[in-house]
This record gives sequence, C-alpha cells and structure tokens, in this order.
Amino acid sequence: METSSTTWDVNYFSKKQTLDSTCFASLSIKFRGIERCIIQDRNGRVILVKRKVVQEKEVESVIPSFFLAGEETCNKYVANVLSKARICSWIQHRIVTKISKDAIYMSHLLGEEEEEYGFSIEAEVEVVKEIVVLSFNDDNELEGHRHDDCCTICIEELLWDGTGERKKIMTLRCSHKFHEDCILKWLDRKDTCPICRENILSS
Ligand SMILES: [Zn+2]
Ligand SMILES: [Zn+2]
Repeated sequence: METSSTTWDVNYFSKKQTLDSTCFASLSIKFRGIERCIIQDRNGRVILVKRKVVQEKEVESVIPSFFLAGEETCNKYVANVLSKARICSWIQHRIVTKISKDAIYMSHLLGEEEEEYGFSIEAEVEVVKEIVVLSFNDDNELEGHRHDDCCTICIEELLWDGTGERKKIMTLRCSHKFHEDCILKWLDRKDTCPICRENILSS
C-alpha cells in the first residue's frame, strides 16, 4: 500500500516583449521552489506540517539565436543556463521546456516580420513540490494498547490525559504512535520519526 505520494505544481507566468532594433533574445527568470509536507489521515483530514522555500533565485541570460533553431537545442541551452545557476534539478526539470517553448514561440513570431527585432522574456516561476504522507490514526486500532504506553516525545501517557480525556493520537507509517500535537510540532522541525528515525517524507 502506498503511504506517501508526491506531486509537483508549476505556476509559470511570463511577460514577453519585442525590442527595438536590437537583435537579441534575452531571458530573465525569477524562481521560487517550495516544498510542502502534508499529512492525511484515514478520515481524509489534511494537515499541513511544513512549508519551506527551498530555492529563490533570479537568472538572466542572452540566448544566441543559433540555439533557437529547434526545441531540442533550445532545451539544452536553457537546461545549461539553469544548471549553472544551480537551480535544484527537480525544479529545473519541470520548467526547461516551458521556457524554451516561450523563446522559440517569440523567435518564430519575429521571424515572420520583415525586419529583425529582438525580444525579451520575463518569467516568474513557482514550483511547488507537495508530499502527502498518510497516517493511520484510527481509534479502533487502539485496542490492545497497554495502559502505560506513553508518547516518547512528552513522556506522558499516550491514551489519556490527566483529567481522563482521550488524547488524539497519530500513527506514522513506521507504526510508531504519538500524541498528535506532539508529533506535528516535532515534524515541523524534523523529517524523521523520533523513535526509529525513518524519514517520513521519503517514498
Ligand atoms: Zn506527547
Ligand atoms: Zn518510527
């Protein structure tokens, strides 16, 4: 059974303009890479555990017209620019074709004009990687728990609080159980189970 899944969303906006009398193509790209970690329980309830910006960068480049000849060459050129700027590979992988399609489109558009003009593309890209981890907290599964089981984060009793109220429990996929509040606070800082160190984000 799958216990985690990862999706990527790419928000890409670009502003294109033709430039007077100059004969060049320029790219200016702003990136922002975001990672979100979400826990979904069996009832479908979704909790955002962590959101972090993994990369924020601005890249500028002048594309030699030779590279606009075809999709493959343009992709290679853009990928090369991005890798020099040390854009994370999972972000790079998702935006290369969008950027080069834009560039090729602009160059074709201009090629149809009689005079040669240059163009510039200003793009803003946000790539969101979302990791959804399933947890298995289910009250019915709590039978068979010993009364003295405790939450290893706060070292207090797992099932009941001091006033006899039932505590909310979250079970990670390694099957270790914690108070929901305790483990969510923990996961905000770390990606691993406090007991067995299993990375809860890795698929
Ligand atoms: Zn606790
Ligand atoms: Zn564990």
